[in-house]
Parts: sequence; C-alpha cells; structure tokens
Amino acid sequence: MKRRTFVAGSAGAAALSTGFTRTGWTVPSGGNIELEGKEARSECYSACPYCGVGCGTIIKTQNGRITNIVPDKDHPTNKGLQCIKGLTSAEAIYVNRLTKPLIRKDMSDPMKGYVSKTKGSYDPSLFREATWEEAEELIADKVVEIIKADGGNAVGLYGSGQLPLEGQYLENIFMKGVVGSNTIEANARMCMTSAVTGYFKSLGSDTPPTCYDDVELADMICFWGHNARGAHPILFWRVADTKAKRDIPTLVVDPRRTGTVQGLEDVDRENSFHFPTINGDISIQNAIAWVILNKHPEAVNWEFLKNYTTGWENYIEEVKKGYRPEDVEDRTKIPAAEIYKVAKVWAEMSVKGRERGSGGVLSIWGIGYNQHLHGQNNTMSLVNLLALTGNIGRPGCGPHSQTGQPNAMGERLTGGLTGRLPFNIGLEDPKHRQWCAEHWGIPRQRLDKVASSKNAGMAVGMMERALKGEVKAMFLIYATHIDLPDAYHLSRPALTKMFTVAQEIYHDAPNNLYADVIFPAATWGEWVNGIYIQSERRLYINEGTGNPVKGCRPDLDMVIDKGKLVAKKLGLDADKIFPYKRKANGFYDPEEVFRNFIVASKGSDSDLTGILEVEKETGKSPYEQIKELRGIQWPAPTAAIARAGGTKRRYMGQEEAWPDKPYAEFRTNDGKLHFNMCHQDYSNYREITDALSKAGTDPNFYITDHMDLLEKARDAGLTPELPHAEHLGKKAGEAPDDTYPFWWATGVVYEHFHTAKTIRAGTTKKLVPEMYVEMHPDDAKELGVKDGQWVRISTRRGSIEARASIGLDSVVKPARNTVPKGFLFSPWNLSVADSAEPKKNKWLANGTTHRAFDPVSGQADFKKCAARVELL
Ligand code: SF4
Repeated sequence: MKRRTFVAGSAGAAALSTGFTRTGWTVPSGGNIELEGKEARSECYSACPYCGVGCGTIIKTQNGRITNIVPDKDHPTNKGLQCIKGLTSAEAIYVNRLTKPLIRKDMSDPMKGYVSKTKGSYDPSLFREATWEEAEELIADKVVEIIKADGGNAVGLYGSGQLPLEGQYLENIFMKGVVGSNTIEANARMCMTSAVTGYFKSLGSDTPPTCYDDVELADMICFWGHNARGAHPILFWRVADTKAKRDIPTLVVDPRRTGTVQGLEDVDRENSFHFPTINGDISIQNAIAWVILNKHPEAVNWEFLKNYTTGWENYIEEVKKGYRPEDVEDRTKIPAAEIYKVAKVWAEMSVKGRERGSGGVLSIWGIGYNQHLHGQNNTMSLVNLLALTGNIGRPGCGPHSQTGQPNAMGERLTGGLTGRLPFNIGLEDPKHRQWCAEHWGIPRQRLDKVASSKNAGMAVGMMERALKGEVKAMFLIYATHIDLPDAYHLSRPALTKMFTVAQEIYHDAPNNLYADVIFPAATWGEWVNGIYIQSERRLYINEGTGNPVKGCRPDLDMVIDKGKLVAKKLGLDADKIFPYKRKANGFYDPEEVFRNFIVASKGSDSDLTGILEVEKETGKSPYEQIKELRGIQWPAPTAAIARAGGTKRRYMGQEEAWPDKPYAEFRTNDGKLHFNMCHQDYSNYREITDALSKAGTDPNFYITDHMDLLEKARDAGLTPELPHAEHLGKKAGEAPDDTYPFWWATGVVYEHFHTAKTIRAGTTKKLVPEMYVEMHPDDAKELGVKDGQWVRISTRRGSIEARASIGLDSVVKPARNTVPKGFLFSPWNLSVADSAEPKKNKWLANGTTHRAFDPVSGQADFKKCAARVELL
C-alpha cells in the first residue's frame, strides 16, 4: 500500500482531478467577504480540524486570507500526508458566514412558560440584528434570572470536541464555577465516553496507554467495529503500510466489508481476518479468551495476572463456563473454526511480543464501538482479553481508542462533562473541588453545591430534563444538536422550549433554527491560537490567522466576556475568575489561559508543569515549545519529560522518566488493573427491547426514568431494538405496518465530517453529495429496489430518504463497502447540511435513531436500529 495508492483509493479519482497536489490544496477566495483586517500570520502551524488522528496542517495565507492547506511533513502523526477532508478543511471557511449577533423577535421565555412559535425556522426576517453588548447583556440577564429562580442546574451547555482546550476549560469554569450547574455536556459524550468510563474502571484513569508509534511495532493489529480507512484515514495508512512492510496479521470486526477490510486484504489476504458480526464483539473476545485458556495456555501471562491485576480468577472462571466458540455462535454469527484460527494467531503474537519485550497485539477502536448500550463493557471486555494475554504495558501492544473529534480528549481532560472536573478527577472528590476552587478563584461551596446537583442520563438526560421543564436555558458552543439521537422527539422539542443561545459560523447551520440569540463565531484557522489534544495524548498548537471574517469573535473571547458579565451580576469576583484582558490585537490571549491550566494540572496524572519549568529555563513559551516539538504528549510533569515531547506510553513503568508519578503500575486505588467480566446473554432479549421501544414513541416515556432497564440491557450485552427478521424480504403490504425487519446502522462516510463544513466545501460535497443507504443485493432484489433508486428508511421514530447503493459497482457514490443480508448502513453526518431547512429535510438520520444509551458512559447506541425499506 503505497502513499499514492492510499490517497487515490481513499479520495477517489474525482479528488485527484480536482486538484490534489503534494504541496497542498487551494482555498476558494470567498468573493467579497470582508475580514477584520487585523495583523495576520503568513503561515500557521495547526492541527486538522476534523478527526482525532490530529494531522499536522500548515495554513498558508496571503494578506490575512487563508489561501492554501499543506500537510506538515515534519509532523510525527501524518508525516506529510493528509486525507481529502483535511486537505479541503478550509474550503468552506468564507462561505455564507454570519457576521452580526442576531436576536429572535419571537423569543422563547421559559420563565413565563412561553414557547416561541417561530422556533424551528431560520429566516432573516424572524431575527433582528443586535450589537454585541446588547446581545451579551440580554443573555446574562436571562441566565441570571433563571439561576435565581430555579438554580444553576437549570442552565445547560452543550460543548464541543472541536473547541480548543482553552475555551473548553473556561466554559467548564463558567458552568460549574459561575453558573453553578452540573448540566454541562459535549459532543465528546457521543464520541468517546464509553472508552473513558471503561478505562476508568479497568485502569483507573481516562488514559489511553498507547501511541501511534505502537502501530509500527505491533505484531498483530485488530480493529473493533472500526472502519479506520473511512473514519481515521491516516491511521489506517500507517497500519496498512506496516502490514505491507512486515506482513503482520490483522483482524477487522465489523458487519460490513469496508474499505478497511478490503485494503488490508489487498496487502495480504492470507493473514487478514474479517469477522462480520452484528453486536457480537464481547462474545468474540470472551470466546478468543476461552480458546487461549484451553488450547494455548502458554499465551496467558500468569505472572502479570498475579502481580498486577485483580479479578482475573473470576474472569477465567466465567469465560471457561460459558464462552466456548461453538456455544456463542448464536451471538457472534462467526463460525467457531474462525475464532479458533484467530485465537491461535492472537496467542502466537502475544508470546512473540512478550518474549521480545516489544510488540504483541494492538487493538484499535473508534466512535462506533463506543456507541453501544454496552459501550463501557466493550472497552472493559477488550482490556480483559489484552490483559489476559499480557498485551498491555509495553510498546507495540494494548488498547488504543481513537477519538472522533479533533479535541475530544481536550473536553475529557478539562472535565467539560457532567460530574467531571479537570485532570481526570470526578466532581465527587472534595479535595479536588477544593483544589479547583482555589485555581478558579471561586468559593469552594459553589462546587460543593454543583456536586450535589444531578444531571442523570447526561446528554440525553439533559434534553429529557428540558422536556420536563427542568432545564430552561441552553448554550450550544461549537456543537450541533444534530449529533444527538432521536432529534424529532428529543433535542428539537427540548430546544424549542428553552432559551437557547448558539455560537455559530454559518447562517443556515441547524442550531440557528432553534436559537433565540446567535453569536457569529470565528472558526478554526481564524483564531489567534489554541490547543487540541489528539488520540495519543498529544497536545498540539492550532495557530490561526488572527484575522476572522469581520464581525466574528473567537469562542474563547465569548466565554470570557459572558463569564465576566454573569459573574458580576451574581456578585462574584469576575476579575479573579477570569483574570484576562484584551491585547493590542483586540483578542484575549489564549496562552494566558493555557498557562493557568498547566499550573492547575500540578500533581495530577496529567501534570504538564514541566512545560513551565522549560519556559523558566529557556524563555520559550508553552506554545513555542509545543510548536517546535510538533506536540507534547501528556503528562509532562518535569522539564526533562517536556523537553523530550512528553510521555509516549502509560502504565507498568513506561513513564520511567517520571519517578514521582502519583500512582503505581496502574491508576486505580490499589495500583492494579481490574478485570471486569462482561457478558452477552440474549435469553431475555425481546422483553427488554420491547420495553425500550417506548422511547421516542411514547411522549410520556423518559428513558432516564428507567435506568434499571438500561442496566439490564447493558449487562446482557443487548442492542436497543431487535429487527423482525421473520419479515425480511416481504414487500410493503405483505408484512404488518409496524414491522421493521432490517438492522440499520448509522456511521460516517470518509469524505464528510460531523460538522456543517464538509457539505459546504465544494470538493467533498461533489465527491459524496447526497444521502445513501448501503443494501445487500439480495435484499434489494426481494424488495424490487434498483441501484440508485430513492427509498424511504423508517424506524419506529421517523423516516429519511436515501439513494440505494448496492455493491461496489453502485452508481451512488462512494460505493466502497458491502453489507451483509438484512443489514443497512447510512452516513448520519450528511444530515448536518440538509437539516438547515426542516420542512425540506429528508436526510436527518438522527431524527430516527434510538435514544437508549450506556447507563454509565451516557453514550447513545446509534448502531442497531430496527428499520424497514419502502419504495418512493
Ligand atoms: S480528517 Fe483525520 S486523517 Fe484526515 S487529515 Fe484530518 S486528522 Fe488527518
């Protein structure tokens, strides 16, 4: 798999013909759009604004305007290569921008119980322009009124893994420290929280132990429910390149034959395994463990188990009792012989890595694997198997979670979620509340009160609470409500009832339909600076031109101004909490915020204070150091570690340069890795899924009132719904109306990201312009669906329209995956564009998805809806 083959295979000929060059990608001029005209850099060192791989990206400018995007050849992540999304990341930057604060004339007033009649529409005549001062004053007054009447927890915020760390940190201070609310969530919830809570339970901290260099050292690489070629293309390229060089075995567990499966088979079909299971991951992992325990005991690392783990005896007993491959075929749908074969390879590669002291089995997953009712168990189950075979705590092996958002890890580390504080510590910890209160300049009692405020059900719960009238205001910060499930019955009606404030860049962005006040935001590439943290814990700089479209302000500036105003109105010491002043360029300096973040990190397992020691010694600022090193991986607790670029790997003494680290081998209270047995048991399936089906269909059914049901479903490793497989193949009229015979999964398509941008960018829009559904040819034949034909996909909660894409020769782009019979797949992220006009909206995949979520991680299960297909 050569670099060029990879790019061509991934982007398609159309991308190449639209201007791919090794030197970069030209950005359209944006016509007459006016910029602030501030002094600007001629070249900005940045990270790609899209996926969590975090490719180094150089933004070229002329006269303060972004003109080119060039992959950074000196960046250790992407080494001079970027996928089509990253290359075209600035194409839509000057399109259809908002430039003035707007206030909805017919505003929802939750204090008086008034629901705006114009919510759900965006039309300039429904809004009036305002000055920044007027709009800021208005929202501060409303928010303070709500806090005084109903308490801080009645104010919510939905933040973003695309916002730089400095903004995330301050939004959390604003919400928990100033407003006094635990109702803070972010799109990281729908992205990575199952990995987060799984890591916590297994390893004691939200700390991915691995780094990208482990790819090149591994002896076997497994992708769990992860189409890396589509979702994380540069990571996939590194895996495929390693396979091509060292011919390592690979396993992909995914219902579809994706580009990932095919690409690895293209390198070597013999040692490329594919398990097309639907929801069978936990059973497969337990079955591999069963085979290893019974047939390849030499692969079990007994010394590691006895000395560094707890709970392994129970795990082994349970696995031996119930997970013989033949006994779980009903759940895995994988022939037992295939599991025996892969388990043998897994055993051999584990022994090989252990004997060499480097390498073994590296297991990678992404958002989809996390988006399950049992998402946390998915992580823990995988850690169990890796730990059993000693594949953790040395280079070249271990669990590696890939974030979807470029700075989802920043959201996690700054604690911008319900119940969290920064630096991997929960709000329930009184000592850490004290620590944060001191660093945030707020009375400790405020955080104590927040700690006793609940936001059960997290992101989904926040919207259900709004439907019940408990949340009365909502800030939407660099995140779209489109990424939440069951939009027709959950987020959209909820936003309609609340006083809603959006920070947006485009006029027709979906959030604007529901906003009462809209602030025009500067976006990636236009800021002055900011930090992103990508999936290997690498903090990287995002330099921007500092010259946004005229009238637009960075989100960081907005939180500081909003925070100061609300703090003052609440009688708090605003200048102590937000000790920042605008600089000569008119903007706040993000590096001041970053320094404060570093200072507060001292003593935590994500200690970054070595960066400040280096600054003292050399005079190089934190941003300068990070830029020069092309990133620093947290933690960097000493000057020596910071100078070396941080800590590549975690646990089992791999942080050898950090003698005083605040934990033993693992971050748990006893310093040990914890096995947590995860089961899959379908015996009570129908009863549980039938009860769950009321969510989104019965307006009086709030799923957060039924956490016991979610726990039961989680413990049995179930999906939220079960298709009526017995009616598969029946045409409309042949089966009862309320039957849904297909599995329907939503996910992402390579060309688009989860933002409003890629669908507005000329190149990526041209490559994949419209909604599609991947279908098996036999299913299409039975229903009389022709390739390219528009069909309706309906779930119990609503419908979308999509073009049928049947097989690799489909006329519908991108036509690069195939699906098993009875299974459908559509990309949800195209709907971000279409939903700008709800009356015409036909693609809103998340209007129809199920709101069931993992009861601990809060991540919704987008992968297994029951659906039917109708001809249009
Ligand atoms: S989308 Fe991901 S893989 Fe593609 S260039 Fe951006 S960071 Fe790299």
